Amino acid sequence: MNKLVVKFGGTSVATTAHIQRVAARVLKEVEKGNSLVVVVSAMGKTTDQLVHMANELCAEPSKRELDVLLTTGEQVTISLLSIALQKLGLKAQSFTGWQAGIHTETVPSNARIEQIDTQAIERALAEGKVAVVAGFQGVDSNDNITTLGRGGSDTTAVAIAAAIQAQRCDIYTDVEGVYTSDPRYVKNARKIPQLSYDEMLELAHLGAGVLHPRSVELAKNYEMPMSVRSSYCEEEGTMLKEEVQMEKDIVVRGVAFEGDIIRLTVYYEAPYTSSLASIFTTLAKHHINVDIIVQSVIPNMTPTVSFSVKKEQLKEALIILGEHKDTLGFDHIDHEAELAKVSIVGSGMASNPGVAATMFDCLYKEGIPVKMVSTSEIKVSVVIPQEEMLHAANALHEQFDLSILPETIA
Ligand code: ASP
Ligand code: MG
Repeated sequence: MNKLVVKFGGTSVATTAHIQRVAARVLKEVEKGNSLVVVVSAMGKTTDQLVHMANELCAEPSKRELDVLLTTGEQVTISLLSIALQKLGLKAQSFTGWQAGIHTETVPSNARIEQIDTQAIERALAEGKVAVVAGFQGVDSNDNITTLGRGGSDTTAVAIAAAIQAQRCDIYTDVEGVYTSDPRYVKNARKIPQLSYDEMLELAHLGAGVLHPRSVELAKNYEMPMSVRSSYCEEEGTMLKEEVQMEKDIVVRGVAFEGDIIRLTVYYEAPYTSSLASIFTTLAKHHINVDIIVQSVIPNMTPTVSFSVKKEQLKEALIILGEHKDTLGFDHIDHEAELAKVSIVGSGMASNPGVAATMFDCLYKEGIPVKMVSTSEIKVSVVIPQEEMLHAANALHEQFDLSILPETIA
């Protein structure tokens, strides 16, 4: 019997009518002879509403209590879906994160899964039940309820798939797959049939909101075949795997973008008043994610280091750096807001020089100023003014001919 893990996101379970539709879909998979674990998100915008309620009481609610609150969203869905499945004549059992044996580290609101005790799920499957598991949640070694970070249900699904050695993990969502760029904002964006884990990982990290980045990381580590597909139609979605079919002349596969980026600049009076590492170690200790880093030490000029962070982390980053000012040895800090990051991604870049140059040239011709650059083997990112974000994404999508479905090489 094939073991499958399927995950349905918030929009797919937004109402009880949606949940009935999901139940019918699950029934179909069970009738094909598959043994199913179904991971679900909270219904519709429930998580946002819960966050909003907490914020009505306090601007900075305790992260522990926020985790307890947010996990109730998924708990509602698992019970309703199990009831809907039972109504269709299936045996079904719901599991919260801790009931499913999902053990995480002790990091409220952004915990990583450390280990999954699969006995309870495996027992349910052996008894012919559908196991319905709450996404996005786990329990730490002190029995605190934890969450995996917004969008974390994808990660729950892939982690369970790896732990029970499932054949595949299918992520059902409200779009038909992974697109060359966000079709809501970029003209002629199209679905990509296949992507390598590495390309997807870059796209997910660079703001293509369709998958939680850690889910792709896990899929890659465990070589778990993973698909992203629509819960509203039968169309094949996007398949993620290690090696994908070569596409003729394809260098860039996708354009990702993300707003609300802040550039922080730290000024020193003299070079090396402290190790550069200490700034980033300090920030990392406080779970501040630093992205692009640019350091410049030029004779006769004030040495600086600039780096980008997300808007939500600005306040915390400034407080932490301020508290450690003396040990970090800097003079002052300033920051620039209203920035965005636009990136191009594709494994073909590794063997095709000149891609970054084409990108910069395109942006220059469009009159878009570039403030920071970062590259890896398979991506180039630029930080630009936020008001130019969609302009840049559309221009690059066209520059690299992404609207045209490439021929594949057999
Ligand atoms: N419900 C959570 C969120 O909205 C987790 C998820 O949907 O993946 O972030
Ligand atoms: Mg999601």
